[in-house]
Amino acid sequence: MKRVLVTGGAGFIGSHLAERLVGTGSSVVVVVVDDLSTGHVGNLARLPRNVVELIESGAAEGTAEAARRGRIDEIYHLAAAVGVDLVLRQPSEVIEGSLRNTRAVLEAARQWSCPVLIASSSEVYGKSERVPFREEDDVVYGPTTMTRWSYAYAKGMDEFVALNHRQRHGTKVVIARFFNTVGPRQSGVWGMVLPRFVGAAMRGEALRVFGDGTQQRCFCDVRDVAEVLPVLLRGEANAGGVFNVGGDRLVSIRELAEMVIRVLDSDSRIEMVPYEQAYEAGFEDVAVRQPDLTRLKRATGFEPRRTLEQTIRDLAAWLAEEDSPARGTRPRHGAPGGIG
Ligand code: NAD
Repeated sequence: MKRVLVTGGAGFIGSHLAERLVGTGSSVVVVVVDDLSTGHVGNLARLPRNVVELIESGAAEGTAEAARRGRIDEIYHLAAAVGVDLVLRQPSEVIEGSLRNTRAVLEAARQWSCPVLIASSSEVYGKSERVPFREEDDVVYGPTTMTRWSYAYAKGMDEFVALNHRQRHGTKVVIARFFNTVGPRQSGVWGMVLPRFVGAAMRGEALRVFGDGTQQRCFCDVRDVAEVLPVLLRGEANAGGVFNVGGDRLVSIRELAEMVIRVLDSDSRIEMVPYEQAYEAGFEDVAVRQPDLTRLKRATGFEPRRTLEQTIRDLAAWLAEEDSPARGTRPRHGAPGGIG
């Protein structure tokens, strides 16, 4: 039996990854370490009980516990405080917690001589204006007085620590820099744009677009992302590599709002909201964020299969199901957003 550890496995990307891992091999047990701060046990509902081991705990302690319980064959480290709202409220915890967790995960990988994928973020590129972003590009950050940059620094430090671990101990680490990942099970509570828009469109409320709406992003369906991660980690030549992971079709946030309204045939209108109202004073957004996917495609043959329109429909279907009286509800709409 292969034993695969997914930290943050009850979260959005983690739960889709867990399903994918179980789907690719009949003899896989997924050990999920999650403190359920933004994740949800219900996200694991589709997995047969006998293939999931849930350790409800912080990532560092839970990983140590998972490593004590037995051999680990692969690790995907996805646990992190995610979403602009959380990041703005707890910048020092974001940095300190992130490093502590990553160290613990690397230690477990060393103990069991197994490969480990570290979830990083397009935020690592900061406000670089050179698009598309390539993995070896220089990065440009805002000042430390702007708390929103703490997430970028934290993810960058995770990368340093992981790459250095490879040099010192030979650990097979792979860094995945996720760009905007979207789809069913993504919560809008912590500030993610697409679930906020889809939720608002379904309720007939205004879609609140921050800034002037010309900022451009690339979105990729979470199921496409979940498919490529094991391929990336298992590729022998990918160890020690940093990879952009996402889609590369640029869409402005205003266009995204219009697309959501069109695809869901909603009566909602669009409301423009100045950044100062949405975030802290002086909030700096990134104008264009687009990955160069050359390296990922070469390493894995990655080609996103789902269109954004399809993802919007599937996300709406999931939200409708979650809100149905039969399933019960949990809060998921409201906060502003942009960091992922
Ligand atoms: P998510 O919030 O759904 O998942 C994170 C999971 O980690 C949650 O289940 C949460 O409960 C858990 N968690 C948080 N802190 C923890 C801790 N200290 N100990 C244990 N569990 C903890 O978010 P996601 O979108 O699935 O993000 C997964 C990873 O991908 C994160 O590392 C995130 O930084 C990265 N990422 C995501 C995006 C995106 O667009 N979704 C973009 C860039 C990077």
